[in-house]
Amino acid sequence: MQTLTTNTATTQFVRSCARPLGLVPTMGALHEGHLALVRRARLENATVAVSIFVNPAQFGPQEDLASYPRDMERDSALLEAEGVDLVYAPTPEEVYPPGFDTWVEPGALADRLEGAARPGHFRGVTTVVTKLLNVVTPDRAYFGQKDGQQLAVIRQLVRDLDMGVEIVAVPTVRDADGLALSSRNAYLTPEQRAAAPVVYRALSEAWDLWLHGERDADVLRMAAMSTLKAEPLIEDVDYLSVADASSLVELERVDGPAMISTAVRMGKTRLIDNVVVNGDLKEFDSAF
Ligand code: AMP
Repeated sequence: MQTLTTNTATTQFVRSCARPLGLVPTMGALHEGHLALVRRARLENATVAVSIFVNPAQFGPQEDLASYPRDMERDSALLEAEGVDLVYAPTPEEVYPPGFDTWVEPGALADRLEGAARPGHFRGVTTVVTKLLNVVTPDRAYFGQKDGQQLAVIRQLVRDLDMGVEIVAVPTVRDADGLALSSRNAYLTPEQRAAAPVVYRALSEAWDLWLHGERDADVLRMAAMSTLKAEPLIEDVDYLSVADASSLVELERVDGPAMISTAVRMGKTRLIDNVVVNGDLKEFDSAF
């Protein structure tokens, strides 16, 4: 496994590597969710690259950029064990050198949900993903359904800008109690960690109602919301959404593919999760 920190060395490496090449973009602090993406990429490609970059441009000024967990040594060992060929781990200066001043501006899809709660977040994501794809030039790039809106925004990015890379969605990996794995779960106190599975429980209740024939989106929203509200350690629910799976426009009735998603605050931790009903990702909770 090669670990490269400069664009020049990475460009050189990917020019001569075996194709197809799969890229898994991450911010490090790797867990089984990331490794599910890596394993899928390993199955489908001759060469696998993983990028590790905590992207300052997607963090708001009050967010956790400074405290975001980083452990390059552990990450490298995990990736080596998965048979990864290339780790691309640029510094912030390599990605955003002095004078950097061009941004990739996503459209309306990025204004809703996470975008409304985190202004500028997706502009940071689309810009860095464009740069990573330009440097690594993969045939396929792998993203988790865990960040469902990010996946939709990136699908639209590569479609709109004719980027010619296949985007592969990987189902959410969960802990045994249903909590979606996330690097940010490390911030939870033991009490909060014990309460956190309520997020998936709430989404599952809405999903169950849908499974039993309920199509009124407000009924699904209210069922999930009342479960979240009953948990005293949840200080705030940023949103509880039942939206069209591709446009993310809020629905009145759930007749096609839909994403039921939420973001909640528990102390200093913000937890997001989603389930997809009536869509292609039937295996959304395959590892649960
Ligand atoms: P991050 O390091 O948080 O930027 O995540 C890197 C990639 O891993 C993104 O495509 C995420 O959606 C994906 N990911 C994070 N957590 C999970 C999970 N629990 N299951 C599946 N994919 C995940």
